[in-house]
Amino acid sequence: MIAIDYKALKSALATPTKIAIIPHRNPDGDAIGSTLALNHYLKKMGHEAVVISPNEAPSFLHWMPGFETIVNFESDREHAIKTLKEASFVFTLDFNHLSRVGHDMQINLERLKTTFVMIDHHQQPDSYAQYTYSDTSICATCQMVYHFMESMKDLDKINPDIANCLYTGILTDTGSFKFASTTATTHQVAAALIEKGAQNAEIHRAIYDTNSPSRLHLLGCALKNMEIIPEFHTAIIHLSQAELDQYNYKKGDTEGLVNYGLSIDGVEFAVIFIENAAEKMVKISFRSQGSFSVNEFSRAHFNGGGHDNAAGGRGEDSLENTIAYFKSILPNYKNQLDK
Ligand code: 5GP
Ligand code: MN
Repeated sequence: MIAIDYKALKSALATPTKIAIIPHRNPDGDAIGSTLALNHYLKKMGHEAVVISPNEAPSFLHWMPGFETIVNFESDREHAIKTLKEASFVFTLDFNHLSRVGHDMQINLERLKTTFVMIDHHQQPDSYAQYTYSDTSICATCQMVYHFMESMKDLDKINPDIANCLYTGILTDTGSFKFASTTATTHQVAAALIEKGAQNAEIHRAIYDTNSPSRLHLLGCALKNMEIIPEFHTAIIHLSQAELDQYNYKKGDTEGLVNYGLSIDGVEFAVIFIENAAEKMVKISFRSQGSFSVNEFSRAHFNGGGHDNAAGGRGEDSLENTIAYFKSILPNYKNQLDK
């Protein structure tokens, strides 16, 4: 755990100033939830705060309070850069290294002479921030933003908008409170957020009950493609660009598919490979159960990282070759996967 000197930060934030708040590229519920919640909070403190997202968020997050105020770096680059240059504080949330915002935005962040604040729960945080709050044992950055406000002695500032945003990120990053990272404190924070106005049932519906017929057909295709390798307790799913096109793929449609592999009895390691023709790469998601660290696996072989049980990475070769390479290194992990 790395903690912030809250006395120093509180006095640095004592007078209203301009603040930029940044989630990681391809933001998920935790990234958007934590940045929007912090945005509402900093505005309540009197600051001029703006969330700048590296790119667009999936449509199942568009209902979130304040979503319409987010500046998209990719589609509104000049405005985003101007806002970054004017900011005297940059908060980066839900990521551990500036490369996670994408190359172009990373360069623009590195040029800034601004004070950085990092709040994040991913492993091996980089040291670019003057104020770092890092705790890899916490399930979601949204839970950390709650603790951050607690340390700032500002829990009374949590209104229904903040509560809805924070609850969303905790819900999505814990797989609806089922992953091992979910603790008693997580439930206590969730309960406090409901008391402060988080509409838990509505949030669940807005996030999970927005399937389109084509998304369910894509799910069918993914499940049909699933391959189990019993000797390594591993399940592989893959989707080609042609399959994504066939089922009208929209951003967010593949969210959570990798978990189907893990739901099989005896499977400890689940992987999904998703071809991205436009970016000439294969996006990979890794999930594990138990002690096998997908963070280390992805760092070692697929230029990625994340958490012990959930990580992402990428392949630069074709879909077929990326999968073949994955299968070729699996035997090296037989001992770890047998545990
Ligand atoms: P997902 O598979 O859902 O994209 O990502 C799983 C987890 O790993 C998330 O917490 C995500 O932020 C993290 N992650 C995904 N891709 C990368 C990556 O390339 N590098 C790092 N360090 N973390 C990643
Ligand atoms: Mn997160």
